[in-house]
Amino acid sequence: MTSSVYPNKDVIAASKQVVNIFCNKEDSHGTKKYGTEEWCADNYGLKCEDHVKNHPEKSNKHFPKGTIPNPTTILLTPDGETEMWRKTGKAEGKELCDAIKEAVKKTGAGIGRDEYKFMTEKLAKAEEAFGGNKVKDGIAACNDVIKTFGKMPAAKPMIEKAEKKLDTANEYGREQIAKSKELSTGGDIEGAKAILKEIYANYKGLDCSKEAEKEMAALPKAK
Ligand SMILES: [Zn+2]
Repeated sequence: MTSSVYPNKDVIAASKQVVNIFCNKEDSHGTKKYGTEEWCADNYGLKCEDHVKNHPEKSNKHFPKGTIPNPTTILLTPDGETEMWRKTGKAEGKELCDAIKEAVKKTGAGIGRDEYKFMTEKLAKAEEAFGGNKVKDGIAACNDVIKTFGKMPAAKPMIEKAEKKLDTANEYGREQIAKSKELSTGGDIEGAKAILKEIYANYKGLDCSKEAEKEMAALPKAK
């Protein structure tokens, strides 16, 4: 199967829409050089130890232990939990392409490697910016993710992460506003104003920035 089906160009195109996990407990395939890289002679992109490791981790879940007809091809939902298609024995190229096409129709298109990379890098940048108190940069990175991929269903988990980061920042801004109110009640109008100014300027795009602006306007004049 590996030698006849996988090199088929239609199968290669179809397989780019899914995460391919190859499980095989044989560790005697030997290695082959592909340019500067060296992989298992039978499976490009994997070392024998990788597909041997995948074998118990991934396949025990989908077969009663000890009885695994080889080859078997299984298509799963993106969370890896629900089986959508199974073929015991050799899957022909067209059959496999059609099955992937049907499965993708049901789950919706996934995100490509480049989109995934863009979003994970932006989220990491946001994390770092918020941690280093560069709030403006953090908000901008989160908004990049939301604005670019907000309408893509497959990007939902990443969008939610970005939104959560913004919510956390907004909450912090509101806590600071509450603190400024305590200060102004205690007569420290300048202290309150300094906090509000900071939240207004650095949290633009979040509700707390607008709220800080209003609170600033409502402050009594300093004596
Ligand atoms: Zn191997």
